[in-house]
Order: sequence, then structure tokens, then C-alpha cells
Amino acid sequence: MDLGLKNRVALVAASSQGIGLATAEAFASEGCRVAMCARSQQALTAAAEKIRKRHTAEVFAEACDVTDAAAVERLVAAVAERFGGVDICVTNAGGPPAKGFLATTSDDWRRAIEANLLSAVYFARNVIPHMQGKRWGRIITLTSITTRQPVADLVLSNAVRTAVVGLVKSLANEFGKDGILVNNVGPGFTATERLKELAKSRSTASGKTEQEIFAGWAADAPLKRLGEPREIADTIVWLASERASYVTGQTVLVDGGMYKGL
Ligand code: NAD
Repeated sequence: MDLGLKNRVALVAASSQGIGLATAEAFASEGCRVAMCARSQQALTAAAEKIRKRHTAEVFAEACDVTDAAAVERLVAAVAERFGGVDICVTNAGGPPAKGFLATTSDDWRRAIEANLLSAVYFARNVIPHMQGKRWGRIITLTSITTRQPVADLVLSNAVRTAVVGLVKSLANEFGKDGILVNNVGPGFTATERLKELAKSRSTASGKTEQEIFAGWAADAPLKRLGEPREIADTIVWLASERASYVTGQTVLVDGGMYKGL
């Protein structure tokens, strides 16, 4: 299937590891010009180099903290200057810590809102004018299964990420006339560093081993295994492609069937 993505400019936020990195690589493998960011230039440079070695893609990698509005503005401007615009933007950031509600502090809530809601706002407001100029664009927010089904101990994610769904639907409604499609992808339990951290904190809280925690997550999904970062990335790439040209305002879960609702 031709995804129609050759030479598109894809900016993937928070992409030095995990799902972000897999997504940047998946766009590179489709012939996109790829822009990546993360807070640490060192980790990012190594990640970008890995992609350049495996694909012929042009990769632009610049350090940026996605919770810093001015830094996101500078990043988008730099990508547009380098590649002549931004066609596809995947918003992403690290996930909030696992805590029960009474253990959360005001700072936890502020940080979660900055990382997991406001970062999407910062990217959207900077990339939309470029997309309007070309009358073509794709914004895909990377969130979580928590947008549909709360996960125990992840109250910060459960609460904050649903606001992203409201943002996505609003942007889809407002900018569909400009050829901009806006969708949200919610991973289930996916084998990354983030999941190792979660397993560690669950293990400490419950007395179970980390292996037991991983086995429990896998057992809870009808597919009886964790997801791989590339499986989330492939769904994001499809949503960005010409093959998803009539899909907007949607949340697509990539969770091995873990979501229990209809
Ligand atoms: P990860 O922790 O492995 O990677 C996160 C990436 O974000 C890293 O590249 C990190 O450097 C970067 N990052 C973090 N904070 C940043 C900031 N302020 N500015 C710029 N870059 C920043 O996480 P992952 O597993 O790839 O998950 C990606 C997103 O998906 C997270 O929000 C996570 O909570 C969510 N998610 C993950 C899972 C899972 O099981 N892995 C499930 C549901 C949702």
C-alpha cells in the first residue's frame, strides 16, 4: 500500500526513546523528512544517528523541553526553516508518575498538565499556520488508554489526558476546513523504559516482583502480551497517511484489546 508520505515533513516530539523514537523511525522508513526532539541533546543525537544509519531519510534533531512554550516555538520555526514547513506533528512527552490520589502534590498536577496537555497546545498552535498555508496537515497526539479507561495509580494520567481528547476534537472541528486532520492515539501497556519505571513502582507498592507485574499486564489484554513501540508507531503513521484521509477527531487505542468497553 502506498501511504503517500514520501518527502512529507514529520515532527515527532519527545523522540529519543520508546514510542516517540519508534514513530520517528517509522516515518523515516516511509521516506519522510523527520524532525525529532527531547530534553537531552546527547540522547537525541544518538537516536537520530541510529535512524540515519538504517534509513536514507534526512533527520533534524534539536534539544527541546516540550513544557517550555518558547522552546517549542523556536523548534517549530527551526524545523520549518530547515524543511520548508511542517506537514505532520506528533505530540508526545514523558508520562506522569504512578501515584494514588492522596499522594499527589500540587506540583505533580502542574507538571502533568504542562507535559501532557499544554505541550500539545504549544505544538498545535505553532504547526497549524504552516499546515494552513499548504492546506494539508496531520496532528496526532500520543496519549494513553487512560483517555478511555482509568488505570489504577495513574490518576494524573487518567485526569489530564482526557483534556487532550477535548482538544483533539475541537481542533479537528475548527481546522478540518483547512485540510488538517487531528487524531489521538492511546497506547495500552507497551514495552518501553516508561513501563519498566511503572513496573518498579507497582512492585514496591504491592510486594509483587516486577516480572509478576509485567505478566499481569500481559494477561489483562486479550492478545496476552505487551505492545511493541513499533505497533503504536505504525498506527500513527497510518493516521498521518493519505490512506486515512477521511479520519479526524478520533481516538484510536492500540492496546491489544485491553479496553473493556464497547
Ligand atoms: P518513555 O519514557 O520511554 O519515553 C519518553 C520520551 O519523552 C523520552 O524520549 C524522553 O526523553 C522524552 N521526554 C520526556 N519529557 C520530555 C520533555 N519535557 N520534553 C521533551 N522530551 C521529553 O515513554 P514511552 O513509553 O515511549 O511513552 C510515550 C508516552 O506514551 C508517554 O506519555 C507515556 O506515558 C505514554 N504511554 C506509554 C505507555 C507504555 O506502556 N509505554 C502506555 C500508555 C501511555
